[in-house]
Amino acid sequence: MPPPLTVDVAIIGAGPGGLSAALAIKKASPTLSVRVYERARALRPSGGCIGISTPNAFDALGAMGSDVLSSVRAAGVDRRYFRTADMQGNVLSQRLVPSTIISWFELQGALLACLPPDVMQLHSAAQEVRAAAWAQVRRCMLSPPHVSPHATPARSWRRPQTGA
Ligand SMILES: Cc1cc2nc3c(=O)[nH]c(=O)nc-3n(C[C@H](O)[C@H](O)[C@H](O)COP(=O)(O)OP(=O)(O)OC[C@H]3O[C@@H](n4cnc5c(N)ncnc54)[C@H](O)[C@@H]3O)c2cc1C
Repeated sequence: MPPPLTVDVAIIGAGPGGLSAALAIKKASPTLSVRVYERARALRPSGGCIGISTPNAFDALGAMGSDVLSSVRAAGVDRRYFRTADMQGNVLSQRLVPSTIISWFELQGALLACLPPDVMQLHSAAQEVRAAAWAQVRRCMLSPPHVSPHATPARSWRRPQTGA
């Protein structure tokens, strides 16, 4: 029987989703203890290339902290155009899509670099989520959220359209 979890938030999987969730939670509630459980035994180059487009993804990364955005941008390569080409390399179409191209592994490293060192635990595969835990998650998701009268409206990551 594994020891009981002693963290406030347990996140399963140290991919971009899990690490971003950890960063966002730490930013919103720095006193919460967060741990990311990753089944891999070690960090190793894996995964393909990911295109992170502006402005929405950059806004989301920036909201987690300016250090997060700069860490990801520094690890990737900036590109301005999205091009399609045939097998001979002839460009068939081109669109202006400013983005940062980064490998999955580099993105993992860039996000991880912005978290305290003890947040991720390798070689820790989640095998079972007990019924009681699921019931608690369902209760949280189904119960109407408590909205403070001082709460600011939820932020949309889509920038308002400007100009004509
Ligand atoms: C070829 C390719 C190209 C792509 N290009 C783009 C792109 O250009 N732009 C874009 O935005 N997205 C792209 N994607 C999608 C992007 O890679 C995924 O959306 C992203 O990786 C999902 O992140 P995630 O953290 O949810 O899951 P994952 O990246 O799959 O990470 C999950 C992590 O959880 C771990 N894990 C799994 N099960 C357990 C367990 N039981 N216990 C503990 N740990 C566990 C895994 O080892 C892994 O580290 C592409 C995907 C592929 C395959």
